Amino acid sequence: MTDSCIFCKIARGEIPSNKVYEDDEVFAFHDIHPVAPVHFMLIPKLHLASLMEADAIHNELLGKMLLLAPRLAKQQGLENGFRTVINTGKGGGQEVFHLHIHIIGGGNIPPMVRRS
Ligand code: AMP
Ligand code: ZN
Repeated sequence: MTDSCIFCKIARGEIPSNKVYEDDEVFAFHDIHPVAPVHFMLIPKLHLASLMEADAIHNELLGKMLLLAPRLAKQQGLENGFRTVINTGKGGGQEVFHLHIHIIGGGNIPPMVRRS
């Protein structure tokens, strides 16, 4: 955890959020600027800046998050599927440097990679 990280503060309840799920290791909350009818983020409570900072000691935590994503998505009404996005580093368009999985769905989800 860090004092300056906005997602650490959200996970600690110091900044309000629209919570989707919480347990002792992870926290999920709706994105403040949703790009689809359902758009929430799943984060570890442990401060990890991005996937680039993750290593083998985080295997279990990351596996748990990936398995939790479809469960939470279904609870949010995404029975037909959803998109997961993990932006990593400045090169990946990451803006908040606390690892998070975007879970997005419920609208028209276009192909992510367009081929011309
Ligand atoms: P990324 O570009 O992957 O780092 O995504 C960061 C996401 O965090 C963006 O989609 C923002 O809309 C979202 N975000 C930033 N601040 C907050 C906040 N206080 N509550 C909820 N979502 C936030
Ligand atoms: Zn953090």
